[in-house]
Amino acid sequence: MRSPIPDYLNAVLEKVRPNEDGKPAQYIKTLANADTSKLAVALVMVDGNVYSAGDDQVEFSIQSISKAFVYAIAIEDAGLEHVLEKIGVEPSGDAFNKLSLHKGNNRPMNPMINAGAIAAHSLVVHPDATAEERTDRILKAMSRLAGRQLYVDEEVYEAELEDADRNMGIGYMLKAAGIISCRPAEVVKGYIRQCSINVNVRDLAMMAATLCNAGVNPVTGEKIMPADSVRQVLSVMTTCGMYDAAGQWVSRVGIPAKSGVAGGVIGALPGQVGIAAFSPKLNDRGNSVRAVALFEQLSRDMGFHMMDVSQIARASVSTSVAKIVAGKEEPHHPNCDRRVVIFALRGAVRFAGSERLARAIVRELGEPDPKDPGSGEHRDACAIVVSLRDAFSLNLVAKRVIHESIKRLLAEGKTVVVIDPNSVLQMDLDSLPTSQHPQIVENEKEAREYIGGTGCSAVTQSDNW
Ligand code: GLN
Repeated sequence: MRSPIPDYLNAVLEKVRPNEDGKPAQYIKTLANADTSKLAVALVMVDGNVYSAGDDQVEFSIQSISKAFVYAIAIEDAGLEHVLEKIGVEPSGDAFNKLSLHKGNNRPMNPMINAGAIAAHSLVVHPDATAEERTDRILKAMSRLAGRQLYVDEEVYEAELEDADRNMGIGYMLKAAGIISCRPAEVVKGYIRQCSINVNVRDLAMMAATLCNAGVNPVTGEKIMPADSVRQVLSVMTTCGMYDAAGQWVSRVGIPAKSGVAGGVIGALPGQVGIAAFSPKLNDRGNSVRAVALFEQLSRDMGFHMMDVSQIARASVSTSVAKIVAGKEEPHHPNCDRRVVIFALRGAVRFAGSERLARAIVRELGEPDPKDPGSGEHRDACAIVVSLRDAFSLNLVAKRVIHESIKRLLAEGKTVVVIDPNSVLQMDLDSLPTSQHPQIVENEKEAREYIGGTGCSAVTQSDNW
């Protein structure tokens, strides 16, 4: 059987292909002469699986999409605090190349418009670095993100440099405002070089997937940027990535994104999928017409909108009750013929999942509430089992809520057994008195035997107990 996904991607391409609106960027000669028939899309899953369709090998310059990644590099090299002193995070609602600074503090509004991106470029390596050092650093980092060696397209670079008065003007404005300290022309040249790096949609989707995968390239496994920087980058992509169309983009597509004037657009859906689309004709905001249409269609068809509320964390905890029974040959154990309550957590658990667990524990084991029939029914259970067998991960707050719930059960003198074969709980036992240690085991059998003695079994109405 063939996967339905490539067929679907081809169908979406054909759907947007007839759209002949827009025209390629005119102010860079090489882009003005681009083959406007080109059209491509790629998806990279966070486990590294790649799908692509259309002209997926055709290279084009990354242009403003580079701004998202160079912002991350600037954060790494100069520190977030310093970057925030120089560049804001507010959407500007202006065109990308507007000569504008925030009135109150003279900072560029955000790193996704040219003023902020040129400032971010100047923060790469260190303030006194040469243009070569900066562009070399950026090219290397972008290549690691894409998972292959990328190159600057010298023709595109020369073409943009020929007519770079506006960006040069922005550079001098930044110098006069005290935002950059180095020579404006050098910084702007470096910025134009960063925009002239060639990529195809598969490279871009891989770079986006690295963002989705908390900064780890999903194919090479290389950790390229810290998760905190990724969050910062995705935040500004969400609010500012599509320039003056950002609000419309968020409501219609709902994926953190960044576009470039060569016709590329990336989208990064955190924890799920990196997406890239390409077609050279642009709308009046400088975003590719067909790529925007493609993203709208993908988001609708595939439920990619980040504010999608159809998946509510309802099923993440299941509660069941089992009776521990000794085997025929086994000596009688005090817990035999007694009940245990099992709470099983599933999936990538965040606050909502851990809250459900805490609530379920209180309901089953707390005082009966007359308004809630059935509550407090298992107060006298001889043990509580928390099964994390099917929990893929716990985020920080989920860990804290679960640790605290376990500590409280132990403080009430309950026996708590945690099934945690993948060590997702990571409770800091060294800092706790032994009386507050839960028993951590690998599987159900070990849990049963700990509670009821060797060889005992469990009788239950539900699943594998
Ligand atoms: N190099 C281009 C510029 O500075 C990038 C703009 C863009 O892609 N929106 O004008």
